[in-house]
Amino acid sequence: MRSRKQLPAPFNKGTGLFLLLCSSFSAQAELRVFACEPEWAALTAELAPEAKIYTATTVYQDPHFIEARPSLIAKLRNADLLVCSGAGLEAGWLPLLIRQANNPAVLPDTPGHFLAAMQVDRLDVPEKLDRSMGDVHAEGNPHVHLDPHRVKQIAAALLPRLEQIDPQQAVTYRRNHANFEQRWQAAIQRWETAAKPLFATNIVVHHKEWRYLETWLGMQIVASLEPKPGIPPNIGYLNTIKSQLANRTPLAILRKPADSSKPSKWLGNATGAPALVLPYTVGGEGAEDLFSLFDQTLDQLLSAKTSATPQ
Ligand SMILES: [Zn+2]
Repeated sequence: MRSRKQLPAPFNKGTGLFLLLCSSFSAQAELRVFACEPEWAALTAELAPEAKIYTATTVYQDPHFIEARPSLIAKLRNADLLVCSGAGLEAGWLPLLIRQANNPAVLPDTPGHFLAAMQVDRLDVPEKLDRSMGDVHAEGNPHVHLDPHRVKQIAAALLPRLEQIDPQQAVTYRRNHANFEQRWQAAIQRWETAAKPLFATNIVVHHKEWRYLETWLGMQIVASLEPKPGIPPNIGYLNTIKSQLANRTPLAILRKPADSSKPSKWLGNATGAPALVLPYTVGGEGAEDLFSLFDQTLDQLLSAKTSATPQ
């Protein structure tokens, strides 16, 4: 057995190599994730809390329109895993980022390229594509994260990717996923019980990113402020909605923090319906993680329901 004295001196070649191996191993052990939107960063963090997760956008940005900045390219270049919505949501910027980043680990059709919306059934897949219909998402509505059942399916699809990319941590990922799924299922039951009064209520939305929430809760979107998807609201169209809503005031007019407040405030004043800014994703008011995102969303909708119902 070697005594301490016989160990290599600090700066000899052997120790240098040993230190180098150690440092490259620890760098590899830390999974680096590039998430396009905060909801997917939050979901990845549930399964891989130790991972270094970079989120490309915040709740205050519209994920349809992001600039492919050099800082984003640099982050993607070093990522082991990309987690984005897909289904066309990032069509305006992600393909460019991927090209510029030139990182084989996150190329399409590799395990490191995970598109959440492509793991689930999507609503509103157009039968035919027609640009006259506005900025329609060809692969269906990509805003899938406001249906907790779909989030659960996406988490289950993300797990094998993590195991594949980082097999050393597979046991940990499986344990974290099981824990998340159990808490999430319990939360779904709680949310569905609480949300019963919202069933069959009418809502107006700014953009159709509330479709999955609507369908989950059995609400009904009776109008969108955008005359066509991706086309900003205008006063002529708002007046049309106002007359359509005469005698049937909706529960609320919903927008996300990144939407302009003017159109929904205008329609709110014109119809008497409250204009609500819901958190929309993690980072929005009161939404620190996926659980509080749904808690907050339901709280706001249920308070609108309570104030709208004559006592
Ligand atoms: Zn959209």
